[in-house]
Amino acid sequence: MKIVIVGGGIAGLAAMQSLVKAGYQVNLIEKSPHLRAQGAGLMLGINAMKVLESLRLSDEVINSGQSLAAINIVDAAGVLIGKSDNAWMEVKTGYKTIGIDRGALHNLLSKGLVPGDIRLNATISSLVQRSKKVIITVNDGKNEEYDLLIAADGVHSSTRLLTGDTSQLRHSGYTCWRFVVDKPSLMESGQSYEYWGRGKRFGLVPIGGNRLYCFATVNASVANCHYKNIDVDEFKALFSGFDGTVTNLLKGLSDDVRLIHDDLNDQIALCMQQGRVVFLGDAAHAATPNMGQGAAMALEDAAVLSECLAVEKSIDDAVLAYERRRAPRVKTIRNRSYMIGKIAQWESPLACRLRNALLRMMPPNVLSKDLCDLLLKY
Ligand SMILES: Cc1cc2nc3c(=O)[nH]c(=O)nc-3n(C[C@H](O)[C@H](O)[C@H](O)COP(=O)(O)OP(=O)(O)OC[C@H]3O[C@@H](n4cnc5c(N)ncnc54)[C@H](O)[C@@H]3O)c2cc1C
Repeated sequence: MKIVIVGGGIAGLAAMQSLVKAGYQVNLIEKSPHLRAQGAGLMLGINAMKVLESLRLSDEVINSGQSLAAINIVDAAGVLIGKSDNAWMEVKTGYKTIGIDRGALHNLLSKGLVPGDIRLNATISSLVQRSKKVIITVNDGKNEEYDLLIAADGVHSSTRLLTGDTSQLRHSGYTCWRFVVDKPSLMESGQSYEYWGRGKRFGLVPIGGNRLYCFATVNASVANCHYKNIDVDEFKALFSGFDGTVTNLLKGLSDDVRLIHDDLNDQIALCMQQGRVVFLGDAAHAATPNMGQGAAMALEDAAVLSECLAVEKSIDDAVLAYERRRAPRVKTIRNRSYMIGKIAQWESPLACRLRNALLRMMPPNVLSKDLCDLLLKY
């Protein structure tokens, strides 16, 4: 069976790792000149670590990143509202939650892959399905024929368009910046914090090597282009008003820090397969990042597709089985992430006080238990 993967992000590389280990012949086409991650840091939940263990990469991920004992949700003044007790989850499941640099994860996911099977600076300009084959035209003008095409080309997937899918993205109602700083003294290692202000959030995630991955969100309409190009001073002013840890971090932020800006969207209509074209990761089901589950879903997709190809009688059965297994799961995560984002971005002082009070009243471990049950259910 000849397989081609379009997109060398987390989904594409994980699929290639899994399928190559299973003995398939796989080519990968990546439009960038290098296999390098976009973005700053990442949180990998217990389900992501379970897949990485099956790829025999979990030990290296743990060594490259930072084990996170807890994710603390605090108010703007730093007072605890709720907590995901990852140490408790680890005792229960055997899997850690890890903060990691995206580049480090990418390097590990690329490990052992044969460079000759990966084409960089490449993309596809057309795609036709005929007699159970997928015929693609690569941007060098060559036509190639495959039994299965795996589309893993991210939230703005052009493969989705080539198959005729016209589903729209839904804007979250807020916009986001990410960056990484060297600030060992600011934080206890192993503790991640997410500050919930009014219509704004600020997150701090240790990612190992004494580095801290930071993210910040603010309510903004889809039409608001102003935030795309704000400078560091305006960024600092926008997020003043959080407790001392954030204030000190912002004070020390140098003018040349690389702020990565993204509007956050999700995909209402899933696009899991179109015949012999199967979609993985954000290309299939982009979600807002409020649960830190996008990479985990991409990793799970890769693992499930590989399992389906191994156990089903035909490629067509495998593709349908993949869709059956993945669609309900990714919908649940997408919907829950969207709802958490909406509530976390509330602006009204009264609504925020009520939300925080209700969350504080929850018995310890209710959140962790619920999350643990959900994450390992795939
Ligand atoms: C602000 C933010 C924070 C996040 N935080 C987390 C987190 O903490 N934990 C978590 O699990 N997830 C998180 N996510 C989500 C996570 O980043 C994504 O879900 C994940 O990267 C999806 O991987 P992917 O491989 O599907 O897509 P991508 O990572 O987007 O990779 C797509 C790849 O395809 C390539 N490509 C694109 N078009 C073409 C083409 N036409 N031809 C060839 N190649 C192409 C791209 O260059 C890229 O290499 C976050 C997302 C955002 C925006």
